[in-house]
Amino acid sequence: MRIKDIELGYISIPLVTPFKTALRTVDSVNDLIVRITGEDGTAGYGEAPPTAVITGDTKESIEVAIRGYIAPAIKGMDLDDLPAIMGKMEKSIAKNTSAKAAVDIALYDLYGKYKKQPLFRLLGEKDPAAVKAELETDLTISVNETEEMVRDSLRAVEEGFRILKVKVGKGGTKDVERICAIRKAVGKDVRIRVDANQGWTREEAVRTICSMEDAGAGIELVEQPVSYHDFKGMKYVTEKVDTPILADESVFSYEDALRIIEEHGADYLNIKLMKTGGIHEALRICDAAEEYGVKCMIGCMLESKVSVSAGAHLAAAKGCITMADLDGPSLCKTDPYLGGPEFDGPRIRMTESFGIGITQIPVAFQKI
Ligand code: MG
Repeated sequence: MRIKDIELGYISIPLVTPFKTALRTVDSVNDLIVRITGEDGTAGYGEAPPTAVITGDTKESIEVAIRGYIAPAIKGMDLDDLPAIMGKMEKSIAKNTSAKAAVDIALYDLYGKYKKQPLFRLLGEKDPAAVKAELETDLTISVNETEEMVRDSLRAVEEGFRILKVKVGKGGTKDVERICAIRKAVGKDVRIRVDANQGWTREEAVRTICSMEDAGAGIELVEQPVSYHDFKGMKYVTEKVDTPILADESVFSYEDALRIIEEHGADYLNIKLMKTGGIHEALRICDAAEEYGVKCMIGCMLESKVSVSAGAHLAAAKGCITMADLDGPSLCKTDPYLGGPEFDGPRIRMTESFGIGITQIPVAFQKI
């Protein structure tokens, strides 16, 4: 089946509370939605958030990349040769991973519908025993004053979340105080992941993480302690602390992942479709992780249910993805979509609908 039409639209959804990290503050999801229609009229959907501080992609750049480069390159291509389409897209424009992810996700959604299979079943064909029917996601706690973070953490636990991902990276000593106060408030059974979003220097990271360890804060992992380009710094931190280190902003591609694995730059990898440019490249990272026995997290940016669901399908299909940080839909005030995996607090239940499973998207699409 050939690709007939590629269309673009926008969705805007307010957040429950402003999302604050060491890098930015945001109060709504404003994402681009892609619809790709095949010759038989079946449509696949993809999504991309403009996350300029991490991927470098803005609303305008995503639109220009798809409209001016990717769409003209792949229109009319045969869906049966998905790798050829992905190769053509990759060559059409360098970088622009969020634009590529939106198109890649729409193509996989369409492919699943065309093959009449849920995407996670298709992606998990190589190892059906590793396929999961349900995922458990953490919930992000934004970086704020300690009391507010404690309040947000307690609310999350009341809502049923058993894993918190706490944003820090704004003052080393203060960060220890924040995490210890949260641990004291939520008790020992809640898992705490700490995300510094590149907010520390390597020495500050070692000092801060060791202080958390000495205080008995019981941290499951620390995500991206230092700047994304400071590979040596991340390796230094990984060697100096007991707490596992998870690479996020440092790993976009298969090559990044391989370097981190082979040189032990971090213990775990965070796969996000907006960094990899979609499912196609993410699958290559999973292959490397599986070969070396490295655990991965599936993460998301500030995304709504379309692209977060694509991440859920990948995570459900792959044994190496043992951690989920797919709280995008939980952070949104409303769910404007119909269908797809069921997001119920911390639980994400996969359904047997074809493709990603989302059937209705209230967006006005414009043809390219
Ligand atoms: Mg992160």
